[in-house]
Amino acid sequence: MYNKTLELPSFYRVAAYIRLSEADKNKSYESESESIINQRNLLMDYIKKKGFTFIDEYVDDGFTGTNFNRPGFKRLISDIESGKVNCVITKDLSRLGRDYIRCGYYVEDYFLAKKVRYISILDQIDTFLETANNDIAPFKALFNDMTSKDTSKKIRSILRNKKEQGKFIGSEPSFGYMRDKEDKGHLVPNPETAFIVKKIFEMASSGISVSDIASFLNDNKYPTPSLYKKKDNSKQRINPVWTVSSVKKILKNEMYTGNMIQNVQTKLSYKSQKKIVLQRDSWIIVENTHEALVSKEVFDKVRNNVKRTKITHNKREKRLFENLLFCKECGNSLTITYRKKHNYWTINCNKYSRDPRRHLCYPHFMPYDKLEIALLDVIKNTCKIYLDKMNIKELATEINNKNNNDKRINDEINYLNNRIKECNSKIDMLYDDKFKGNISENTYLRLSKETEILLNQSKKRLDEIKNSSKKEINSNKKIKEYEEKMKELINLDNPSRELLQSIIDKIVIDKDKNIEIFYKFSLLNNI
Ligand SMILES: [Zn+2]
Repeated sequence: MYNKTLELPSFYRVAAYIRLSEADKNKSYESESESIINQRNLLMDYIKKKGFTFIDEYVDDGFTGTNFNRPGFKRLISDIESGKVNCVITKDLSRLGRDYIRCGYYVEDYFLAKKVRYISILDQIDTFLETANNDIAPFKALFNDMTSKDTSKKIRSILRNKKEQGKFIGSEPSFGYMRDKEDKGHLVPNPETAFIVKKIFEMASSGISVSDIASFLNDNKYPTPSLYKKKDNSKQRINPVWTVSSVKKILKNEMYTGNMIQNVQTKLSYKSQKKIVLQRDSWIIVENTHEALVSKEVFDKVRNNVKRTKITHNKREKRLFENLLFCKECGNSLTITYRKKHNYWTINCNKYSRDPRRHLCYPHFMPYDKLEIALLDVIKNTCKIYLDKMNIKELATEINNKNNNDKRINDEINYLNNRIKECNSKIDMLYDDKFKGNISENTYLRLSKETEILLNQSKKRLDEIKNSSKKEINSNKKIKEYEEKMKELINLDNPSRELLQSIIDKIVIDKDKNIEIFYKFSLLNNI
C-alpha cells in the first residue's frame, strides 16, 4: 500500500503544518509544549536534519482539531493540489486533527492518492516507510484517543512536579494575589486586592462576626472576588455582593499564610472535566512560597472561631419543621435559630439575615415554638377532614366507579386481542394467495402492509392499556400509603420529622406572617 521506493531527501518539498487550539492556549503551563514557537522549532530542526526541501509553513492559530475548515489547512490542501508540496510534517497526529475519521481520510486516502508523504514526528509515523507505527493502522482504532490519554499522563506528571516545587499552576490565583511577572509560578500580593484580604482577617481576629464583616465590605463597596475576576474577562458567574460564605471562604484559605496549597481537587479522567475534592493528605502543601497576607497565629485563631460556630450550629438536634420552611418573598429557606439572650427559638429569612443592612429581603422574625404548635394543629386537622371524607366516599361511589371502569377496560382488551388474531391470519392468507398466484406481487405488498399497520396499532393500544392499569395500581398503592401516614400523624402528640416530611412538601411564610402549607398529596392542598 505504501510507496517503497525512496527518493532522495531533497525530492520532498515539505509543508510544515502547525495548529494551536484556543483550548491549548488557555491551559497556561500545558500550552508551553504546544506553542507555535515550540512546534515550529521542532519541525524546522527535523526538516533540516533530514535534508528535506522546506517550502512553507501553514499555521492555524486558535482552531480546534475537530474542525477541518481551517484557513491554514485549506491553503495546505490547495498547495498539494497544485503540486507545490509533496510532503506534510506535523509535530503529532493531533496537530493535523482530532477527528480520527477525517484525519484518517487525509493520511490514508487523500495524501496517498496525491503521492504526498506524511510524517508525524512524535508518533513516529511516516507513510512512506514501513514502520511498526504504520502497521497498527493508527486511524482504524481510537488511536488519537490513546495519544491524548498518553499526553495527558505526561502533562499530569509535569504538573505534579511543578506543584511539589511550590510553583503555582492553577488558572487563577486566590483573591489578593497575582502571578509574578518575572516568574509565572510565583505569587505576589495584588496591590488592588491584598488589602481587602488583610482587612477581613484583621476584623475577624478582633472578634467581629462574619456577617458584620460582609456588611462592612459591602458598605465600603469593596469588590468581591468574582466581581474583581470579571475585570480579567473571566466567564464565571459574578456575585457582586459579599456574603457570609464568601468571607468564610477567605478566612479558611490557607494560601494567605504564605503556603502553597495545591492538588485539592482532581479531574476524574483525561476526557472528563468533572472534578472531585481530594482528602487533605493528598494535597500538595509547600510552606512559605509567597508573601503571607496574615500570620499563621492569626489564621489559626480565626479558623478555630469559624469552625466552632459551625460545629455548634450543626450539632444541635433539628427542630420539627426544619428544612420545610421557606420565604415567600425570595424563595430562600427560613432558618431556625436559638436566641441565647432571650432564650427562645426564632425563624428568619436566610437571605435577609445573611446581611440585614443591605435589605436583600424582609425580616421574617417569628417565635418558632408557637409556630410549631399552630402548624401541627392545622396539619392534623386537614388530615382528619380528608380521612373522614374518604371514609364516606369509599363505601359508595368509589367502589361503583371502579367496577364500571374495570369492565370497560376488559371489553377493550378482548376486542384488541381478537383484532390481533384476525390480522395475523389475514397476513398468512395473503401470503398463501400470492404463492398460489391468486394476487399480484403489488397487491400482496399493499394489502400486507395495510394489515401490518393495523396489527401494530392494535398491539400498541393494548400495551398502553396494560401500562396505565399498572400505573393505576401503583398510584392506588401510594394513596393508601399516604393515608396510613395521615392516620399515624393524627394520633401522635410528638410526630417525627420523617413522618412530617413524608406528608408535607413545604411551608411558605410571607413577611406579614401569612402561612401556606403545601402537601405532597395534592388532594390535601384543596381542603
Ligand atoms: Zn426572603
